[in-house]
Amino acid sequence: MSANASLLKVTGLTKSFGGVKAVDHVSFSIAQGEMLSLIGPNGAGKSTCFNMINGQLQADGGSITLDGEDILGLPPRKIWRRGVGRTFQIAATFASLTVAENIQMALLSHAGKIFHWFKPAARFYRAEALALLERVGMAAQADRPCSDLAYGDVKRVELAIALASKPKLLLMDEPTAGMAPAERIALIALIKRLVTENGLAVLFTEHSMDVVFSYSSRVIVLARGNLIAEGGVEAIRNNDKVKSVYFGSGKTFEKETA
Ligand code: ADP
Ligand code: MG
Repeated sequence: MSANASLLKVTGLTKSFGGVKAVDHVSFSIAQGEMLSLIGPNGAGKSTCFNMINGQLQADGGSITLDGEDILGLPPRKIWRRGVGRTFQIAATFASLTVAENIQMALLSHAGKIFHWFKPAARFYRAEALALLERVGMAAQADRPCSDLAYGDVKRVELAIALASKPKLLLMDEPTAGMAPAERIALIALIKRLVTENGLAVLFTEHSMDVVFSYSSRVIVLARGNLIAEGGVEAIRNNDKVKSVYFGSGKTFEKETA
């Protein structure tokens, strides 16, 4: 396929829960190097979309292709292996490990090595782990336990863990949840830089419209399971349907409560 073709193509994606059409024939695509935000009020179907793309949730219908190959219906691990990464919260058992060890574990896991004996992780992939930490601005804290880190720094480590599997596409469902505005902007700016520098594609949700409008390449908008708008930042900001959905929910683009 050509270099500028879609990396991910979602067509007619559909999922109901009982009588609720959570996602109703949704279609969109993401190209390499794009930072695409998926926005919409609570209950719009954003997380349901993410969970079908990563394989955690079975779709009722539609198709999803990555690099032209069908991935719909594959188990999550296979989808991850094909290059769809996502961030996970660092598990409690891993919080006592150092920042670098957490990255080394992720690198071991990606390489398919057994990792129930994690002492040797201290020796393997140290250089690669430090290089990844450099990319997220955490190299100086490599030898601190994750349990000692500030919340925003934990999020950076989680991002480095996701990058350890060398994803083509990173799925981030509310990556800045629980963060203060300044931390939130710093994390999204970092993600944007990784997208630009590495040709990664990112699909993310974010509540702060300021952040969405400042950092997205393109925006898609869901409301009650339907894709109601898609376009560049300016087009979405001025889209009447989008405005009415947000005014209807008591939110505006101007005053964000972060
Ligand atoms: P968003 O992430 O945009 O807030 P969700 O995808 O979580 O929205 O939810 C979309 C709709 O699907 C909502 O009406 C929600 O209540 C419903 N829903 C989501 N997950 C489930 C589930 N596991 N069981 C039943 N209903 C669900
Ligand atoms: Mg959600």
